[in-house]
Formats: sequence, structure tokens, C-alpha cells
Amino acid sequence: MARVWNFSAGPAVLPEPVLEQVRDELLDWHGTGMGVMEMSHRGKAFTGIIEAAEADLRALLGVPANYRVLFLQGGATQQFSQIPLNLLDGASDGRAADYVVTGTWSKKALTEAQRLGRVRCAASTEADAFSRLPEAAEYDLSADAAYVHLCTNETIHGVEFPADVVLPTAAPLVADMSSHLLSRPFDVSRFGLIYGGAQKNIGPAGLTLVLVRDDLTGRAAPQVPGLQNYAVEAANGSMLNTPPTFAIYVAGLVFRWLQELGGLSAIARINADKASALYACIDRSAGFYRNPVQPACRSQMNVPFRLADENLNASFLAESEAAGLFGLKGHKSFGGMRASIYNAMPLAGVSALVEFMDDFARRRG
Ligand SMILES: *Cc1c(COP(=O)(O)O)cnc(C)c1O
Repeated sequence: MARVWNFSAGPAVLPEPVLEQVRDELLDWHGTGMGVMEMSHRGKAFTGIIEAAEADLRALLGVPANYRVLFLQGGATQQFSQIPLNLLDGASDGRAADYVVTGTWSKKALTEAQRLGRVRCAASTEADAFSRLPEAAEYDLSADAAYVHLCTNETIHGVEFPADVVLPTAAPLVADMSSHLLSRPFDVSRFGLIYGGAQKNIGPAGLTLVLVRDDLTGRAAPQVPGLQNYAVEAANGSMLNTPPTFAIYVAGLVFRWLQELGGLSAIARINADKASALYACIDRSAGFYRNPVQPACRSQMNVPFRLADENLNASFLAESEAAGLFGLKGHKSFGGMRASIYNAMPLAGVSALVEFMDDFARRRG
């Protein structure tokens, strides 16, 4: 078996020890005589799996007791509408939500929310091609916003907020953390709601994680469907209907893997080493490779870059694949290349990429 170094943005690489355990337990989970895919979500075995997954996630992130952990479906995209349905619509007191636009994903969140309620764009870096975060003076936050939405890591543009992000607002912060949740420690209590699709940094596609502070549940208008109502989902332990059982099981194994590694400070150190090795390679290439993002805002997870001579793109991709480096083609809206270096990408994979890039620049520069 030959596994490649997989730099795909998502679905993405998973930790090898987790995949091996899944393989070993696929037909018979812990002597039950059946695999997790085949068991009832209401049985004792799966109840144990989801409870352990929640407890491990709470321990990893230090989730305060007044937050619900929800294991949902529909992806981050579903949350783009579920958030306004719960936090904006039901209040019906005319308050608006503020959206900070720093890339494709926060812009999509804004567009979707606009269909459902009063929404303002409180800052946008689009005029600078999403190559930076807003300066403090650029924020136009309303004093009585229902919430302030931001995407703390823009997967396509490669712009990341600092872990200790502070915005000049008293409104609850609502954050799309799809592509860097669990990549570093941060203070959950700074946020009212945190969400993310699992398929970037956590587990298989089909699972969406939502961490929501108690006081933000129960605000939905009566016509909001139960399956989209945080209070109803929380009251039913994420089992109003059948949850994505297999994805929850795999995510739970990833939480364990992170704990055994030493938790989020340990993985954050590894992630910082990986990112600095890759950015150093880009920056020392004398313009052969370029990353457009202001250095202070560069993402540690998603590294977009372009070749100065775009005519070399096809050979870069063909030769990198031949060298066992997979998934480097950039998002169609950005072009160029992108290396996603999530938790499960070892430093050895990034070193192999850097070695290839140095060599390619030497040969073609
Ligand atoms: C991938 C991604 C999304 C969309 O996720 P789906 O699960 O496909 O809906 C939203 N936001 C961010 C930051 C992403 O990386």
C-alpha cells in the first residue's frame, strides 16, 4: 500500500492510527459482532461512543459547562442559514446581525443570512482581494447587533484570525471555524457560537459540529423547523433524528488521537513548525512562488500560493503528483496552488513538499 501526502482542502487527510483502528473495528466493534455503521444510534454501544466523543471534545477545548455540543448534519453551509434562523429571526425586535467579510466563506455566510433577516456588512477586505484582516479602525459594528459573524480561518484565501481575536463589540461572536477548529488552543468563552464541518480538520464529511452558549438557544421563531432549532436539537442530544453515526465515531477517535499527542498546545506547536517551513520556502524563492497574504494574517492550515510563471502550473502539478504530493491545485476561484496542512498532515509531509518546491524552483527558475 502506498499512501500519498494528501494536501486536499477537504475532505482531507485523517490520522493514520485512526484509520487503522477504524479498519480493525470495521466488522466488529468491541466484541458487539457488528460495526459502528450497522448499529442503532439509540443502543448502548453507540450512546457510549457519542458520549465519549462529547466528553473528549469538551476536555480538548475546555468547553465551559454552559455550552451545548451538537453533532449535526448539513455542513457549515447549513449553519449559514441556521444561525440567522435561530439568532436573528426569533428576536423580531428589528436588530441586525453584523458580518465581517474576509474571504469566500464569510461572504457566503453573509449572502445566505441576507435572505433571512437584517444583516450588515461590518467590515470587508474584498477591495484588497482578501489578502489581510480588517484593521481595528475599519470595523463598523453596530452597538446593538444580535451577533457578529466571522470566519476565523478562510480556507480559500488563507487568512486566519489570531486565536485571541478581540472585536470591539459586546454582541456574541459567531465563528465559522470549519478549517482550523482543534488546530490550536483558544478560549471558547469568547464566542457565543462556534461551528464547522468536520471534513477539514476533524473527521469524515457528513458531521457538523456546533458549540452554542445556552442563552443563545431557544431564540428561534416558532415556525423554525425542529431539525434547525438549536434548543430542540440540544434537548434531544443531537438525536432528534438519526445522527451521522459513523462520522461521529471517527471524529471521536480523532479527539482521542489528539489527547494522546498531548492536546491542542502540542498539535499547535507541530502546526506552527509545518506552516513556518512552508512559508519560508515560498518567501526564499525570490518571487518564483508568491503567497499574497499579509504575513501577520497568514493561515497555519491553508497555504495558497502562485507561481510567478503560471505557464508552469501544469508541470508543477504533474511533477508533484509523480513525487507523491497530492491535492495541490488551488481553488477554482483563486487559481494557482494551495497546500492544506491540517492536523493529520505530519511534518514529514510538509518537508517532502518543501523539498519538491525548492527543487522545482531551482530547475525551472
Ligand atoms: C469548507 C468550508 C465551508 C463549507 O463547508 P460544507 O461542510 O461543505 O458546507 C464553510 N466554511 C469554511 C470556512 C469552510 O472551509
